[in-house]
Amino acid sequence: MADCLFCKIVAGEIPGEVVHTTQRTIAFRDINPQAPLHVLVVPRDHYANAAELAAGDPAASAELVTTAAAVATAEGYDDYRIVFNTGAGVGQTVFHTHLHLLAGRSMTWPPG
Ligand code: 5GP
Repeated sequence: MADCLFCKIVAGEIPGEVVHTTQRTIAFRDINPQAPLHVLVVPRDHYANAAELAAGDPAASAELVTTAAAVATAEGYDDYRIVFNTGAGVGQTVFHTHLHLLAGRSMTWPPG
């Protein structure tokens, strides 16, 4: 999709520190990490949010989670948090589905 930041990272048009790829997903480090491990897992195809992805491509939706788990394991973390922000009101700033994978520090609940 034109003018989508994460579509451009998927296409290699702008740089991303890619840590893992699968048939349907790409995982790359967040540019502004909120934990020692902060990776974004995105579908290669453009969907605006997690619900649209789950409805449109359930296999890719599941693969986001399995990719996040594979990255956490590869980076040596058994405990991690995975988060989808959906909507500007809860902090979504990039409207291409992305799963945040965070690990490496203690975390509180509920999130802020
Ligand atoms: P959101 O706020 O939409 O849930 O998450 C968007 C994430 O994308 C943020 O954590 C932000 O730091 C990250 N981000 C924004 N621009 C870039 C970029 O150009 N490259 C990478 N790797 N991450 C980005």
